[in-house]
Amino acid sequence: MKNSSKPINFIENKIKSDLENGVVERVITRFPPEPNGFLHIGHAKSICLNFGLADKYGGDCNLRFDDTNPEAEDQRFVDAIIKDVEWLGFKQNIRPKYASDYFDQLYEWAIFLISEGKAYVCELNAEQIREYRGTLKLPGRNSPYRERLVEENLSLFEKMKNGEIPEGAMTLRAKIDMTSGNINLRDPVMYRIKKSSHQRTGDKWCIYPSYDYAHGQEDAIEKITHSICTLEFASNRPLYDWFISNLPVHAEPKQYEFGRLNLNYTITSKRKLKQLVDENYVHGWDDPRMPTISGMRRRGISPAAIRNFCNSLAVAKTDGIVDMAQFEYFVRDDLNNNSPRAMCVFDPLRLTVVNYDDAKLDQIKIQNHPNRPDLGSRETRFGKTLFIEKSDFSDDETLSRKKFKRLVINDYVRLRGSFILKAEKIIKDEQGSITEVLVRIIPNTIGADAPEGIRPRGVIHWVDQDSSVDCSVNLYDRLFNVPSPDSDQDNFLQHFNTESLIFITGCKAEGLLQKAAPGEVFQFERQGYFTRDLAESDSLTFNRSISLRDSWESKL
Ligand code: ATP
Ligand code: MG
Repeated sequence: MKNSSKPINFIENKIKSDLENGVVERVITRFPPEPNGFLHIGHAKSICLNFGLADKYGGDCNLRFDDTNPEAEDQRFVDAIIKDVEWLGFKQNIRPKYASDYFDQLYEWAIFLISEGKAYVCELNAEQIREYRGTLKLPGRNSPYRERLVEENLSLFEKMKNGEIPEGAMTLRAKIDMTSGNINLRDPVMYRIKKSSHQRTGDKWCIYPSYDYAHGQEDAIEKITHSICTLEFASNRPLYDWFISNLPVHAEPKQYEFGRLNLNYTITSKRKLKQLVDENYVHGWDDPRMPTISGMRRRGISPAAIRNFCNSLAVAKTDGIVDMAQFEYFVRDDLNNNSPRAMCVFDPLRLTVVNYDDAKLDQIKIQNHPNRPDLGSRETRFGKTLFIEKSDFSDDETLSRKKFKRLVINDYVRLRGSFILKAEKIIKDEQGSITEVLVRIIPNTIGADAPEGIRPRGVIHWVDQDSSVDCSVNLYDRLFNVPSPDSDQDNFLQHFNTESLIFITGCKAEGLLQKAAPGEVFQFERQGYFTRDLAESDSLTFNRSISLRDSWESKL
């Protein structure tokens, strides 16, 4: 997937110069998710960057699971992440790597550091460790266990490993500098006791390496040349470098940090997305409203749209908030170019064609796309009874043509791809509601200009009664109704958009939509882009991928 048009960013510049100057022979990057949730749009940016750079410079990118915390992790997340990365289009049949593959090596290196007097077993509990650590302004204090002898440390660490010590009673800590200006260097925890089974190593271990201890060594083992991560890890870099320089490793991965992607009107924190799932605000991680890759897939957004969006973003040294409208632009652009048109009426009003014999045909050929002849055409039945949208008809003859470009009693409108017709008579039920409109078609107006003296108000969508199929639609909208739901730490849920899902039944769709494949996307004329839901079901449901235009701008 070469993409030479991508603007060069500082990381790419570095890779280019490292290759040109022979600092590295081949670029190896990695994308290291923790399998404790599904991937979201922020991860997609990191995937596009890491896999994209490796592709462009003839290198490789590892998908590596940072599975060092069994309590929060699950095989289900591993599987979902693999599927998402493959779907985004970077690598097929990925053979992922796992931090847990290196547990033996990491353990050996821990013993090495203890033997060198550079790590010790500490009996302070989590709260005490925090207290001794100090603050940005105050230096930390040495743990009373810091000066244990090597032999004692080795034997206690062995006991930790053998399950002889209760959880929380001891940790292994690196012995660096409790007065360092960088808090990460104040004797960070390398191992903690967790008596939980791991999805891959089962019950083999009851001590697990911390992310901070494991991460840099994993990069070294895999000979990662450019370890790209988000800005919040910048202050961890000296710690990773400390481990690398104090261990007998043969590679020195260099870390580069870039700004996280944040999108307004949604959130890109796994923890908070998990809360939406766990507290049933949404129907699972792949709910089409979620900014997860699987949610976007169910919403009919293509991998190309996501990649184009990610590649349009700056790779900068500051975190930024990107406007949702920018993402939606790429989604619309892709769908507009690639999705065939079809018609679906959400709230049907019956039209009866009084002069049906004048139509002289019962099938109409309609182009599937206004500027993509390669997408072909379809035959749609034109019967005596049709449906249009209730909101596309009015019995108020005084409505101005400018304001109401639809059907009005005693006036003309064109049916998309079909005849011009005139509304002649309204039929009401006992309550006075309009149940049917009798219309007269103007013969020979398909694909032809209106005859002299007839000015249709506009073009509206329609379906034929007999050949149409019943369906339901899910109208999805933004997850939150304010641009920064996350700014107020505790209360992001209060900004949840309760209208982010509107379910409509009793819709009438063109007959061909019965055969729509799950995941196939159509532009429903005048309604938006819709995709057939991926869930196995006998009923026909379409999810709105996105509306035709941005209706949020006006709400701001
Ligand atoms: P969260 O904070 O939501 O839990 P995370 O960063 O802890 O996310 P990981 O699974 O550790 O999630 O992320 C894997 C990789 O994806 C990391 O290299 C991380 O830097 C990158 N990443 C995560 N979120 C974003 C984001 N919003 N923008 C860019 N990259 C991201
Ligand atoms: Mg993380």
